[in-house]
Amino acid sequence: MTGTRFGFHDPEGLLIGGHFLHTKETLTSVNPTTLEPLGRVCVAGKKQVEEATALALSAFRHWAKTPPETRSAHFRRAREILVNWAEDVARLIAQEQGKPVVEALTVEVLPALGTLLFLEKEAPRILQERPIRFFELLFADKKGYFRFEPKGPVLVISPWNYPFLLPLSAVAFALAAGNTVVLKPSPITPLTGALVGRLFHEAGFPPGTIAVLQGGPGVGQALVERPEFRLIHFTGSTETGRKIMASAAPHLTPLILELGGKDPMIVFADANLERAAAGAVWAAFMNAGQTCSSVERVFVERPLFDAFVEQVVTLTQALKVGDPLDPDTEVGPITAEFQLRKVEDQVEEAQKKGARVLTGGRRLTEFPGYFYPPTILTQVHLEMRVMEEETFGPLMPIMPFDSEEEVMAWANRSPYGLTASIWTSDLERARRIAAQIQAGVVTVNDHTFSFGEPRATWGGVKASGFGRSRGEFGLLEMTDVKFVGIDPGQRSRPLWWYPYDQTLLSVVRKAPQAFHATDTGQRLQALLHLVRRHWGKLFRELPLPQIALRAWELLER
Ligand code: NAD
Repeated sequence: MTGTRFGFHDPEGLLIGGHFLHTKETLTSVNPTTLEPLGRVCVAGKKQVEEATALALSAFRHWAKTPPETRSAHFRRAREILVNWAEDVARLIAQEQGKPVVEALTVEVLPALGTLLFLEKEAPRILQERPIRFFELLFADKKGYFRFEPKGPVLVISPWNYPFLLPLSAVAFALAAGNTVVLKPSPITPLTGALVGRLFHEAGFPPGTIAVLQGGPGVGQALVERPEFRLIHFTGSTETGRKIMASAAPHLTPLILELGGKDPMIVFADANLERAAAGAVWAAFMNAGQTCSSVERVFVERPLFDAFVEQVVTLTQALKVGDPLDPDTEVGPITAEFQLRKVEDQVEEAQKKGARVLTGGRRLTEFPGYFYPPTILTQVHLEMRVMEEETFGPLMPIMPFDSEEEVMAWANRSPYGLTASIWTSDLERARRIAAQIQAGVVTVNDHTFSFGEPRATWGGVKASGFGRSRGEFGLLEMTDVKFVGIDPGQRSRPLWWYPYDQTLLSVVRKAPQAFHATDTGQRLQALLHLVRRHWGKLFRELPLPQIALRAWELLER
């Protein structure tokens, strides 16, 4: 098997409780370039699902208490191992998923290393307790702080298009926050998925903190239904996301859903033409267009339209399509046959409705595998499938637009809202549009780079999902925020406890004016009235010295 460099067995066992367990049923990974078998993995049954979840729960009791600094040391070790494995990981990705080796290094291995480094260096700081000063003056003598506590076992379900980076990132963030993880990789790229488990295992993460269960939707469904999971991090199609949400409902398992996209690229006439054309070609055809944040709709302001189309066609025709192991290859195969058929169907429908294919447009038959050339379409309109549905293949439909309002309406008419890009030299306009676009990520004069920045957040709106991954917000989503409020315990009781009587009523009747009247004179008058009439009670039952220290806040309301 290709992956023997990593100590793989054929079939590769399931990682459960720090051991590699073999089952009878196996799954064969197929190389999409040659259509030859690449290797096999064992498939999980009901027993392994129960075992892995039980172990994840018991390992959680220890891992959750491990100080973040100790967890950091594990991330350092994982990074060290991955640096040594880097090129072999890239070759396995190229063979199993089909992206060229250079791309596997730039868009999977390097961002994975950045992720491990970020968590090693920054997770302990982000997860520290955060004290607050109480806003409410009545609580001026109390102290409070937030704790970011691990949730419990986390289920990570991942797709095949970034078979290394996506599971690695979700697993690493979950582990860094003190959770344990069961990972179910895609059955289309199980060997690379297994490698993610191997990496954390070899880095010394304790047995049970990470398990890898292989299999298809059935295994995924069985895992989703387990009550032990306190979070499901799912990356995949919107259709599957809906099913998972329904299956998670009985146990109220929280979800982060990273789903599909139909990302717009908006090019204004004042954009740097050379950069915009090169950016469009890269962001539409990189990974053979199988990126959730690929450019899938290009809108170009009319004065630039012809020049833009001419340049992208020239650049596209120069792309080298071929074996992803060949260092010159720029576009590899599509990973699976069903995905290739989807691309063909969308092109056929668009052509029937009047679209023009400027380059590409037909399956490449000189290769045994699933090859489709980078394809550019013009004369497309908004009702074509190629402009409405996610393609997830090497297609670039381009439409001209005449005004900012028009293009905003077109960009936002999609049910999806993952990422979007704006290309212009007017950065004020870019900010204005970025604020209006319905998307979780907006980039200016670049597209789909931000997953490579571990401090940036990732995630969509609308049918692209909810919840945030990566960055500080992504790490905190892997935790339960607990608030701890502490009273010094000196006063026998505060004002608002029992007994309720006429004196308390007359104090609280005046309190809205004393604390919240927007007119300063009215507020001061009410405060003075309270202090004069009820001094003794207020002194006994409110933290008056601490309130006095913040008296200016009362004046500034
Ligand atoms: P998919 O939804 O078919 O499968 C994703 C994973 O879910 C696989 O591991 C699969 O075995 C599992 N699964 C399928 N049915 C299940 C069920 N009922 N219960 C539990 N698990 C189940 O998606 P895919 O074809 O692997 O990936 C492509 C999709 O992923 C595209 O739509 C793409 O846009 C999306 N994607 C999104 C992001 C993002 O960050 N938003 C990133 C990558 C891919």
